[in-house]
Amino acid sequence: MKKIGVLTSGGDSPGMNAAVRAVVRKAIYHNIEVYGIYQGYSGLMSGQIKKLELGSVGDIIHRGGTKLYTARSEEFKTVEGQKKGIEQLKKVGIEGLVVIGGDGSYRGAQKLTEHGFPCVGVPGTIDNDIPGTDFTIGFDTALNTVIDAIDKIRDTATSHERTYVIEVMGRHAGDIALWAGLAGGAETILIPEVDYDMDEVLQRLKRGHERGKKHSIIIVAEGVGSGVEFGKKIEEATQLETRVSVLGHIQRGGSPTAFDRVLASRLGARAVELLLEGKGGRAVGIQKNELVDHDILEVLNQPHKIDENMYLLSQELSI
Ligand code: ADP
Repeated sequence: MKKIGVLTSGGDSPGMNAAVRAVVRKAIYHNIEVYGIYQGYSGLMSGQIKKLELGSVGDIIHRGGTKLYTARSEEFKTVEGQKKGIEQLKKVGIEGLVVIGGDGSYRGAQKLTEHGFPCVGVPGTIDNDIPGTDFTIGFDTALNTVIDAIDKIRDTATSHERTYVIEVMGRHAGDIALWAGLAGGAETILIPEVDYDMDEVLQRLKRGHERGKKHSIIIVAEGVGSGVEFGKKIEEATQLETRVSVLGHIQRGGSPTAFDRVLASRLGARAVELLLEGKGGRAVGIQKNELVDHDILEVLNQPHKIDENMYLLSQELSI
């Protein structure tokens, strides 16, 4: 392989830039030409492809977002769209592609591989919802952003003796809520993977209040329901003054943590190695601090699981 491409796709996450940098530098280190595909699969189909040099990825390791931009494209879900993309890659002579993104982006990479164009997936999403890796790039940064917000809200919650509902990202995966809830000392954590009992949530709040707690913090993953609605229900049922914060897109931004930069560097470089070894259709990850790679289709066919022991621990510590 003499020329490879790299793109970022789907929802952006802090650390994507560090991953792009690792791909570019690792490729150049091995005397491989590397091309950036701008705006994800949409830019792939329209041929927004530019050669990247060592300097093209200078000064981005610490920046959130993605210098290659990202996009969502319905057209790419069709075989015609995918073939269009392959045509563009072939025009430039690119023989392999690193795709940095979430599970939707992995589906695109799997389809390209199926059509004979080797791709390797790098897990870039704040949701930590990709099977076959303990952590995805951006999760740690998002988590720390949430913790920072919880700590600040805790100060004001204590001063005013209020109950706070904090809605965090996670439509299908509760990892941000679970980890942030545990690290932030939340009383209750509601995640999409586990059914909840509203009476139990209310009882817990009342018990805490009766034993003199100055504040309560409830973390709700967006996939469970609207934080605003929870806040209303709680205030009505407990008569405790309740406020709601929906953290929203601040969770996607910011300078990546050291953990995410290191993870992105390791995974990005490994993806290039796999392409050079002629192994397309793989997804890289980290398990027990070892770099691993799995068949991308197997990754896509596995359900996302939360760490049940951690969920139980969060319950035990918030009695
Ligand atoms: P993420 O990668 O963050 O999960 P999306 O689910 O939006 O984000 O996926 C990003 C892009 O990947 C989509 O806009 C689409 O272009 C492509 N994609 C998603 N699903 C498929 C599919 N089944 N086949 C081909 N491409 C897909």
